[in-house]
Parts: sequence; structure tokens; C-alpha cells
Amino acid sequence: MTNTNLQDYSHKRYNILTGEWVLVSPHRAKRPWQGQNEAVSNEKRPSYDETCYLCAGNTRINGEVNPKYTDAFVFTNDFAALQKDSKTFAVNDGLLVAQSETGICKVVCFSPDHSKSLADMTPKEIEKVVFTWQKEFKDLAENSDINYVQIFENKGAVMGCSNPHPHGQIWSQSTLPNEVDKKNTQQLNYFNKNNSSLLGDYLAQELEKQERIIFENDEFVVLVPFWAVWPFETMIVPKKHQANILDMSAEQALQYAEAISVITKAYDKLFNTSFPYSSGIHQAPTDGNENKHWHWHMSFYPPLLRSATVKKFMVGYEMFGSPQRDITAESAVKMLRDLL
Ligand SMILES: [Zn+2]
Repeated sequence: MTNTNLQDYSHKRYNILTGEWVLVSPHRAKRPWQGQNEAVSNEKRPSYDETCYLCAGNTRINGEVNPKYTDAFVFTNDFAALQKDSKTFAVNDGLLVAQSETGICKVVCFSPDHSKSLADMTPKEIEKVVFTWQKEFKDLAENSDINYVQIFENKGAVMGCSNPHPHGQIWSQSTLPNEVDKKNTQQLNYFNKNNSSLLGDYLAQELEKQERIIFENDEFVVLVPFWAVWPFETMIVPKKHQANILDMSAEQALQYAEAISVITKAYDKLFNTSFPYSSGIHQAPTDGNENKHWHWHMSFYPPLLRSATVKKFMVGYEMFGSPQRDITAESAVKMLRDLL
């Protein structure tokens, strides 16, 4: 460990990608570890549920019938938050500022098997999901009104996911959302100053230190970022400098699928439960520019704290001040690495 102070004393860590800070209070994690043996309902779901609107062959609320799909299946969200043909307008009324936003939202079913999650799928099966993300990203990016494509998954009822069928979403829109805008600025400033990739240089430092690496193969690294906020937050980063997922070859896609498989399986083992999380891919805008400063990556933000039933809440100081964590990134790495 380069600096034991980081394991013993309260401090704040800088998130190079957003320019924000997280408060870390490691002394609080030395409180007795409780609740890890709480009983969890690991109810086994059926492979097909006739009431599920995502299962193959079933009818969705708008009357459309899902095909008898065999791997990944995509459709335009029937209740989209963004719509392609909504009215364009702007409000600039003194300090009251607003602008219209258009976009296209899709749903991606990962598997026809209602009972599975990414953790239960093989890398070869996950590879098909990755290829689907690539195809959808490419198609959406070709639309001149679409300048950013957000791929994400909400897994688990605790994350507000209403349907357990394995699926994610793609929301694409004309402007950059807040988180992407921050990362765009930070990466651009670094690139302009150093003529190299912010995340690439960070990855090189992490690979040298080997303190926060959970897993790596030839093309990808799974790590707990130095500035992680969520107790078991992780990030998958390509070793090669790639602005978006279209830069990934078919061979690299399988290695990426392996990385997803490894971390989701470890998560499920951590508290012996189907581990809830929000995951998402941050990548270069699709605004027609080269965006060489961008290094795409996938983050997992799981809410669980010390057992399948103890959730971390972002409340109080975190709403009014900064995010805060007790267990350090380095302790989380040790726990996750032991499960591989
Ligand atoms: Zn289903």
C-alpha cells in the first residue's frame, strides 16, 4: 500500500473523470461487521413467464407481439422518456431557462430466458448482447439529431427495476446528459494539456500499482476506481484507447463479455444473492466529431452495503455535501478479488 493514511484516516478523493470529490471515512468501517448472515429469498424464477411483457412470444401493453427471439432482442420503448418527433422550443425568460429535448429510447432483452441475469450467462451469450449494443449504437449515431447514446441496465427491485426479465435500456438524445458532460470536459481538458488519454494514463498507473485491480485479460481491466462512491462500485476499462464501443473488434468484444461475466458472477457471490446494480457505458458523443479525448468505460453502481438486505442510502450529508463511504476502495477490491 503506497499510503496507509488512506486506510486509517478520513480524507477525500478526487474523481478525475467528473472533477468531484468523495469523502472516505475508513475508521468507521472498523465498527463490528453485522448482518452478513441474514437470510435472503433466492426464489428461482421460471424460464418463461406468461405475464412478462419481455418474454418471447408475449404481447406487450401496446399490442405488439414479441418475436420468438433466441438471443438478444431490441424494441423501441413503448413508454419512452424521450420522443423523436416532439416539439422543438426554448425558454429564456430571465432566470427561467429550458429547452426541448428529443431522442429515441430502446429496450434490449439480453436473453429469452426469464430466469437468467448477465451473471448466469456465458461470455459467448453476453458477446451477443455486446454485438447488439454495437449495432444499436451505430444505427442511433447515424441519426443527425442524436448526439449521445446512453446504454444502461437497472438490475433488481431495489434499483427500481419493475421487471426481473434480463434487460437493459438505451436512451439516445440530442444533448449531453449531466454526467457525460462532466466527463467530456475533464477528458478534453486533460487531452488538450497532455496530448494523451486521461483514463488511459490512469489505467497505466493502476496496472503498475495493482492495488485496485480485480481482474484483467488481454484487452480489458476490471477495477474499483480510486474515487469509487458506492461500496462495491467497479469499472471495466479497455486497455486500448477507444472512444466508443464501435472501436472494439469482434475478438475484443468476447474479452469484454468475459469481463462482464467475471464481475457480475463475483457480485452474486458477495452476499449470496442476485446482486442489484445500475450499470452503464460512458462513451464519446455521437456529434460527428472525432472526440479523441474520450476513453469509453462501463461502470457498475451497486447499492448494497454489508449484506443482501442492507442498502446504502445517499441521504443527509450526501444530499447536501458530498458522497461519503466507509469501506475503502482497497478493502472492496480484496473482498471481490477473493470471490473470483
Ligand atoms: Zn420474461
